[in-house]
Amino acid sequence: MLTIGCHLSSSKGYLAMGKTAVSIDANTFQFFTRNPRGGNAKAIEPQDVTAYLSYAAEHGIRRILAHAPYTLNACSADEAVRDFAYRAMKEDLERMEYTPGNCYNFHPGSHVGQGTETGITLISRLLNSILTPDHHTTVLLETMAGKGSEIGGRFEELREILDRVKLTDKMGVCLDTCHVWDGGYDIVNHLDEVLTEFDRIIGLDRLKAIHLNDSKNPLGAHKDRHARIGEGYIGTEALVRVVTHPALKNLPFYLETPNELDGYAREIALMREQAKDSANL
Ligand code: FE
Ligand code: FE
Ligand code: ZN
Repeated sequence: MLTIGCHLSSSKGYLAMGKTAVSIDANTFQFFTRNPRGGNAKAIEPQDVTAYLSYAAEHGIRRILAHAPYTLNACSADEAVRDFAYRAMKEDLERMEYTPGNCYNFHPGSHVGQGTETGITLISRLLNSILTPDHHTTVLLETMAGKGSEIGGRFEELREILDRVKLTDKMGVCLDTCHVWDGGYDIVNHLDEVLTEFDRIIGLDRLKAIHLNDSKNPLGAHKDRHARIGEGYIGTEALVRVVTHPALKNLPFYLETPNELDGYAREIALMREQAKDSANL
């Protein structure tokens, strides 16, 4: 069965997210660990987590995905920004021990003119200073659109980070369809080739999640503006091919499309329908 969900607000806690997910026929979801623009995280309520875990088991909610705040920049030139990245990620991973076995996704960062090499050094240094053998969370690097000085617009850059992290088994990758498209990987006409390249450079075994988004911009635009499914340059058919691809179909898919809940429900229904059709072929 297709594992699909969308980004949900975490302001009311885990149980509320679980119930919202079930209400739109999702069996996973993504959420921000704290305000996406930064700041402190709301305290975890152990009772909420306990209630969520039994609700999730009962309703077949699978592995969920936490997303770090956008302001987390591990390779900023500003030491205060790097310090926030350290504190936020360290604390987020401690909090995620309440819900072991899930994934934590973050944007590798923007090197802001220091160069890719320095950026990669700072990112891997941050991960090496935070990850410990007793974490039960897989930390995912997100593929980026390559906007400005963003690291992660090329598969090679992610590979380089993975290689430099000592506890590399704790690391994986989240592929964002809008971002890779904007980064110049043609998943519309050459999905197989893009996945072969991903496998050659990073390894498909590292791929743990997919962000399923259409793009408001053409191939290689380096913009990163998400569109609803079928309302962008990628289109419904290509996104259905992503969801039903033999190498991807068992991964969890997360919609980050500009939608309210009813729009997400429609996109989930559409993808479930298409996945069922393809399984019956
Ligand atoms: Fe993201
Ligand atoms: Fe994304
Ligand atoms: Zn994006």
